[in-house]
Amino acid sequence: MSDCFIDQPTTDAIPIVAVTADDLERWLATQPERTSNWVGTSGYQGKAGSFLCIPNDDGRIACVLAGVDGSEPTWALGDGPSKLPAGVYRLPADWDAGRCEKAAIGWGLGAYRYTRYKAANGELPRLSLAGLERPQRVRDVVEAVALTRDLINTPAEDLMPEQLAHSARALAEAHGAEFFELVGDELLSTNFPCLHAVGRASLHAPRLLDLRWGDPAHPRVTLVGKGVCFDSGGLDLKPSNAMRSMKKDMGGAAHVLGLARLIMGAGLPLRLRVLIGAAENAVSGNAFRPGDVLRSRKGLTIEVENTDAEGRLAICDALTEAVSEQPALLMDFTTLTGAARVAVGTEIAAFFSNDDTLAADLARHAGIDDDPVWRLPLHDGYRHELDSQIADLLNCGTSSYAGAITAALFLKEFVPATTPWLHFDMMAWNLRARPGRPKGAEAMGVRAAFALLEARFGTGAASAGRR
Ligand SMILES: [Zn+2]
Repeated sequence: MSDCFIDQPTTDAIPIVAVTADDLERWLATQPERTSNWVGTSGYQGKAGSFLCIPNDDGRIACVLAGVDGSEPTWALGDGPSKLPAGVYRLPADWDAGRCEKAAIGWGLGAYRYTRYKAANGELPRLSLAGLERPQRVRDVVEAVALTRDLINTPAEDLMPEQLAHSARALAEAHGAEFFELVGDELLSTNFPCLHAVGRASLHAPRLLDLRWGDPAHPRVTLVGKGVCFDSGGLDLKPSNAMRSMKKDMGGAAHVLGLARLIMGAGLPLRLRVLIGAAENAVSGNAFRPGDVLRSRKGLTIEVENTDAEGRLAICDALTEAVSEQPALLMDFTTLTGAARVAVGTEIAAFFSNDDTLAADLARHAGIDDDPVWRLPLHDGYRHELDSQIADLLNCGTSSYAGAITAALFLKEFVPATTPWLHFDMMAWNLRARPGRPKGAEAMGVRAAFALLEARFGTGAASAGRR
């Protein structure tokens, strides 16, 4: 991945010239006739996302035209790594530092390849980071997203709770964090019964993963991730087309690990805790059943309406543990419902919050960083969907409407109104390739969430008067 960047200044790096369709003519007027002829012969029109190599007299590349339209600067050069020939390139000379940093991040994200089972073919073109103010930040973002994508792309056979734990531990060790886990029946003796119920039918014991980092005197930020390493649906078995993609059901866990890597890499002055409910929702003689009643860590009893609504059960005990420490901010990341995809599609991370300022801040950062999110309502009027005849609540509603909202309302039962809270329900997967976003696993909302944390808790936060 880092192969796609070069730090040292190189005098022979190929310049990228950004053009809009409108200013292509103006640029050509300043160029020798053979360049105009070449552009004309190639039929190049400066369409956003398109590239054209311009040769010099020796038949080497003199420069590259990159069509841009000014929108979503992060993705302006996102297709560079897949469309340009091998070589070293440099960012457009007329771009400011902020635009260059975003485009470099998009380049790095576009260079991502998942190579565990099949080698990538060909040598990647590289982008020079010389002259950037924060080259390390670019690398950190690209590597954090790659960590998230790698975990999600890995098939369940090679990424069960134990391997997820291994990755979390390795991340903790790399950043001097503490790591602790509860495995299998330890979840019962320490009162994480819902997570245990979800994972008890698997040969791979369920685990609560617990990472702590930073000065305990700093504001406490807690991230909770849904780590369902494979979701068969349980006894309410999914049909094959729905089960096919369920290696990605630990996407929330992968997101919080990627975000933790960013936080620790940047050394944000906060006390970080990461809690992951890791389990396989499998079918076996001891699988939890529709109609069973689980008693949660909080003491609320939950009647299982459907064993495929297991994600909320896998993290509700972790939420109870999280809020017991009264964090300044609580975020959970989940691939929780298909209903969220019906509502906002696969390319926007749906989120919920009990704090309007927090929600607005997140949306603002999402816009700045080209990491789209959309707030859905925590509408208490739908709480009746979770009413149970024999328990405090059902694990999911019985109607076919508002499934993302009722899932969020279920989680809200475990989060007091006094805890500022963001709940993400996202796809964690690109169904199609776009610049900087290859098909397959994706981190959604992580860059926006990190920007929010940096603005609220970063060293510049107080002096800049932000919160
Ligand atoms: Zn499920």
